Amino acid sequence: MLSFIKKIFIKNGPSNGIPTIIPASEHSISRSLISRNCLGVLDTLANAGFEVYLVGGSVRDLLLGREPKDFDVATNAKPEEIYRLFRNCRLIGKRFRLAHIYFKHEIIEVATFRKQGKKDHQSKGHNGLLKRDNVYGTLKDDVWRRDFTLNALYYDAKSNSIIDHTNGLLDLQQGIIRIIGDAETRYKEDPVRILRAIRFHAKLGMPLEEKTAKAIPKTHMLLAAIAPARLLDETHKLFNSGNAVATFAALRHYAVLQHLYPLTEEALSHPSLHATADTFILRALQNTDARVAQNKPLNPAFLVSVFLWYPLQIILEKEHSNKTGTPNHSDFTKLEHAAGRILRQAKQHLAFTQVITQTVIDIWLLQFQLIGRRQLQIYHLAQQPRFRAAYDFLCLRAEVDDSLKPIADWWTEWQEADDAAREQMINTLPKPKFTRNKKRRYPKKCPPADKPTIKE
Ligand code: ATP
Ligand code: MG
Repeated sequence: MLSFIKKIFIKNGPSNGIPTIIPASEHSISRSLISRNCLGVLDTLANAGFEVYLVGGSVRDLLLGREPKDFDVATNAKPEEIYRLFRNCRLIGKRFRLAHIYFKHEIIEVATFRKQGKKDHQSKGHNGLLKRDNVYGTLKDDVWRRDFTLNALYYDAKSNSIIDHTNGLLDLQQGIIRIIGDAETRYKEDPVRILRAIRFHAKLGMPLEEKTAKAIPKTHMLLAAIAPARLLDETHKLFNSGNAVATFAALRHYAVLQHLYPLTEEALSHPSLHATADTFILRALQNTDARVAQNKPLNPAFLVSVFLWYPLQIILEKEHSNKTGTPNHSDFTKLEHAAGRILRQAKQHLAFTQVITQTVIDIWLLQFQLIGRRQLQIYHLAQQPRFRAAYDFLCLRAEVDDSLKPIADWWTEWQEADDAAREQMINTLPKPKFTRNKKRRYPKKCPPADKPTIKE
């Protein structure tokens, strides 16, 4: 399919504002490959007299023979006009106003054509950062507002043809990710495009075109100005789409990890911990990719607990060598305090929700009890909501620390055993030593040590 497109390009690439039009007979996209909901949206807008196209990742992925993650639509209808046509529509976004059309299992994102404008609706801050991008235009204008050439192909569901203004088809065929326009200016307008470049590079296995790559070191510092909520959203996409290993390598290669997980970047240069931290993270990313490949669910907090585990160890190590902290504090209490500190720092870059931070803390604190294996706590621990994540975490740790392997194996065996064998395994654990309680660790109303609730 793509070799045929190449022939057309050599004859007729887009020039002087005249796009290449690829007719239905010459590409592999058809209405049958588009979701029914999306076809409904395309047809409703077209029947109401608007220009409307399928665009972005869906056209790109269909041409590559991949299943699109979602369907994006572009139209000349204004957000309010779209809103009036669909009962199930919600308008979102201030910086970039969009319509979301809701269906039971799908959201279709409909964007109004944008153009470069000088009016109040499009404003740039210092450093060229685009604060608002709400000047509407035509398809011809809209093309140049998109990020990469392979994301700027428009499919017309009525004529079944593809419109290409930027030579995106040739780049797609040659496997190149090329930013549209001047790379530095486009990254300055929206530094998140750097993360998107890395995401598509890892996802599609395509290199970044030279200028697209070379502008990253000159502009990536601007990622510091992006809201932590948007960065978190992009970070989820980076690591949860099945290419986490390649993504992580690219983030480090382009020195961008420091804007998402600066503490992890530091741990990866730590004189004694860097090699172990690197292997630990790599194993976790491999597991994540394997889970995505098998369509298994991902717990978003798990990778966070992995990325921040070695930064936590560094803090604990420092406190130990400085002899800071109250002398009588148990290791458990020190871990609680250090965990709170690490997560507070990490949240300045990625806006983790309370559920994520509490899950991370639970995974970390449960390590104590999983390793301690007190006879009377085993069943109780196994019923904890975070037990599975904490056990997976322990297994991961055992991969880089041989001393933990027998303990991780014990838990694996225990979970697979029948009731009688479980009892026997518990009975072979060292008996608890009952000493008179010298001092209550928690005031009466605090949760028991095996169910900690920590405010970070
Ligand atoms: P996928 O959905 O597979 O992750 P996508 O390319 O469809 O990839 P979306 O985030 O769904 O990505 O965006 C849809 C389209 O909107 C993109 O293909 C691109 O044309 C445009 N776009 C999205 N974000 C930006 C941006 N920050 N700057 C310019 N264009 C963008
Ligand atoms: Mg998309």
